[in-house]
Amino acid sequence: MTKYVYDFVEGNRDLKDLLGGKGANLAEMTNIGLPVPPGFTITTEACKAYLESGDEPDELRAEVSQHLAALEKSMGRDLGQSDDPLLVSVRSGAKFSMPGMMDTVLNIGLNDESVNGLAARGGNDRFAWDSYRRLVQMFGRTVLGVEGEHFESAIDAAKTAKGTKDDLDLDTDDLKALVEVFKGIVSEHAERDFPQDPREQMDLAIRAVFDSWNSQRAILYRRQERIPADLGTAVNVCSMVFGNLGMDSGTGVCFTRDPGTGEVGLYGDYLQNAQGEDVVAGIRNTLPLQDLEELDKSSFDQLIETMQTLENHYRDLCDIEFTIEDRKLWMLQTRVGKRTAGAAFRIATQLVDEGLITLDEALDRVTGAQLAQLMFPRFEELDESSDVVQIAKGMNASPGAAVGKAVFDSDRAEQMANAGEQVILVRRETTPDDLNGMIAAQGILTSRGGKTSHAAVVARGMGKTCVCGAEELDVDLKGRRFTTTRGQVIEEGDVISIDGTSGAVYVGEVPVVAPPVVQYFEGELDPTAADAGDLVQAVHRLMTHADQARRLRVRANADTPEDAERARRFGAQGIGLCRTEHMFLGDRRKHVERLILAQGDEERELALLALLPLQREDFVGIFKAMDGLPVTVRLIDPPLHEFLPDYTELSVEVALGEERGEDVAHQRNLLDAVRRLHEQNPMLGLRGVRLGLVIPGLFALQVRAIAEAAAQRIADGGDPRVEIMIPLVAAVQELEATREEAEGVLAAVEKETGRALSALIGTMIELPRAALTAGDIAKSADFFSFGTNDLTQTAWGFSRDDVESSFFSRYLDLGIFGVSPFESLDRDGVGRLMRIAVEEGRASNPKIHLGICGEHGGDPDSVHFCNDIGLDYVSCSPFRVPVARLEAGRSSAASAANDTR
Ligand code: PEP
Ligand code: MG
Repeated sequence: MTKYVYDFVEGNRDLKDLLGGKGANLAEMTNIGLPVPPGFTITTEACKAYLESGDEPDELRAEVSQHLAALEKSMGRDLGQSDDPLLVSVRSGAKFSMPGMMDTVLNIGLNDESVNGLAARGGNDRFAWDSYRRLVQMFGRTVLGVEGEHFESAIDAAKTAKGTKDDLDLDTDDLKALVEVFKGIVSEHAERDFPQDPREQMDLAIRAVFDSWNSQRAILYRRQERIPADLGTAVNVCSMVFGNLGMDSGTGVCFTRDPGTGEVGLYGDYLQNAQGEDVVAGIRNTLPLQDLEELDKSSFDQLIETMQTLENHYRDLCDIEFTIEDRKLWMLQTRVGKRTAGAAFRIATQLVDEGLITLDEALDRVTGAQLAQLMFPRFEELDESSDVVQIAKGMNASPGAAVGKAVFDSDRAEQMANAGEQVILVRRETTPDDLNGMIAAQGILTSRGGKTSHAAVVARGMGKTCVCGAEELDVDLKGRRFTTTRGQVIEEGDVISIDGTSGAVYVGEVPVVAPPVVQYFEGELDPTAADAGDLVQAVHRLMTHADQARRLRVRANADTPEDAERARRFGAQGIGLCRTEHMFLGDRRKHVERLILAQGDEERELALLALLPLQREDFVGIFKAMDGLPVTVRLIDPPLHEFLPDYTELSVEVALGEERGEDVAHQRNLLDAVRRLHEQNPMLGLRGVRLGLVIPGLFALQVRAIAEAAAQRIADGGDPRVEIMIPLVAAVQELEATREEAEGVLAAVEKETGRALSALIGTMIELPRAALTAGDIAKSADFFSFGTNDLTQTAWGFSRDDVESSFFSRYLDLGIFGVSPFESLDRDGVGRLMRIAVEEGRASNPKIHLGICGEHGGDPDSVHFCNDIGLDYVSCSPFRVPVARLEAGRSSAASAANDTR
């Protein structure tokens, strides 16, 4: 029989799949002896069974009853017992943290009778009635689906009647009256009364948590964070402890190190006389954790000790939610904390130095996506003449530099971003309903809430720039503007800049510059210098280890000597794709035009000869930049019409010219060629190897230019390592014919120059037929390079240029894929074709060298896949080279760790 419920003492941190992150960690903390209020966890399996059938599995009710009875026994009172009620919280908790995305209900077990029992036990009427009012409100909203605004307005009305703005001024009688009003709101809007039966409250709350897995905002968050949709959430039922019993109670959130920078120290927020969600929601401004030392030294000391225990136990930065009830500390949650990219690198190396983890493990604590974030531009220092002014300073919640138009509403932010505008979402505080706006915005600015507020936590998770708690700003959401303390007014659409690293907010656009990590990769910053900064030092250490650990080599896609030089500085070990088509554009287009229009061999020869020296120079520069390292030059690929004028424009030109009686013979000739070469779907037409076979001399010219450039480099004392790559091959015969021609040219140039040219000749694998017949193709190829852009296009039947903008967003909404297959390799389809090609290619040619040069070569997940299937290298754009190096290292370190032999 499936076990659906685990007591906290039965679980442990390795059971995250089953108990969710929160449940597994509550169990772990219970078992290492930390003060966790007793409770139990309902598994993700129960949630999945419920979501599949629309009903709780039969066994679940019985198991919940059994665990509830055990809980009641250990607590010495029953759920909702009228004279001394046991109260519980019902909290969601999925395998991966989804902050604020799903539901939670506190104070379950209170009703018209037990509220008096709670008052009697705590000796505090106000507290009991406040707790009851919170339950009716939270239950009404999350379980019964009543709009939160109804409750908010009722509280506002009660405060206005009392002549106050502060919740704390509402006394017991006010709260009693409010409970009645709230119950009325529920009856009116939920078509049922607020349930008085404690068990019914609990069962409905559990069901609501299950349902919240599929709420719109949870779905959106999962998609953004690439969390699989079928995991389900666990539900934690935990006995309540109260942070709102009075000023000796409170609730807080803290980190064992600074999640923004990684610095060791005390980081957290504390709120006296408050309950759970108040801190995270950023509703009231919090105290810094240090202040707790004065308020309650013994709880503070115990908390510090617990933080240390947790860090040593988890060997990582932990984030913690705690409550103090009448000077007694309780741990409500811990998890390995989200952190900024910079903090991730610093913390990983700190933990190595503290002897808690190995360097291999440290690689697992950082990601290529984080490294990419560290390479984003930063704001330039402003000089005095600048008319950009700083208008406020908030908390540096999530680093980076963001510039955009101020927008005060999430839907509007989304609309404007969709229309191509860059926006900054400005709110008092954010709630989970703002997720769409946060995704759409360049950055997020709030006027309230600390580093643990919703805005800060979610923005850090997304790697999005965020400044929060900028209290100098008075945000007027309805008026779509904010006002600074100095009276400046910023309206919707005004450009602002926010610096998530310093917390500064500016009006106007601040110029951006390269960050230190880029300066390091550029070789402008010595990582061993004392003043290199701890971030650069940490990045350098982990990059060095990744380079030692990795099996995959990393090359770059580069078409110019400048790009090749940068790629080399960034650590590229060669060029995996030098596209030659751009070399035919600009001024040179006229030569291609002549080639296309050529009538007879002589004209064609002349056109080719004009191109030869130009091409040769291109290659000399690139071979020089990559001296001693392999350079894969791909022969021309795109359809010919890309080199010709637009059909409609040319037709108009000819027609007008003729009308005016001008000589349009040349244009007419061109128009004929354009007409002749017009294709319905040029991506599947006359391009790649087909061009080389159809236009005599074109490939030979390119091979000659490559060979002559190599010979020249050798003559100049260089060491060119040339690889000639044939695009869009579908059949071995295409490769054989092209190879023969290329070998002829190479031999001729060797003879003419007296230089031995040991060029390799290989092909791209970018069509399904090529992958499926790779065993044959490999016999004529020295190497394969997977062109996964075209392979994705042709495997899916998706036209590269059309589909992403036309219907991918719908496909993403429908969950057909979680991420575009052009962005991250589709392992099941395209990946399978690659596996076949790798296996069959190697079987028939064991010496064959294998790489990838599609965009996926720089995508972290795809790099791991390429390592797993045994490619020799990945190739990506120069800026992604460091990311690929790191991910290749992480992938090797991970496979070494998983090797159980
Ligand atoms: C590819 O198809 O993956 C590739 C690298 O070639 P291109 O993008 O130039 O078609
Ligand atoms: Mg291609």
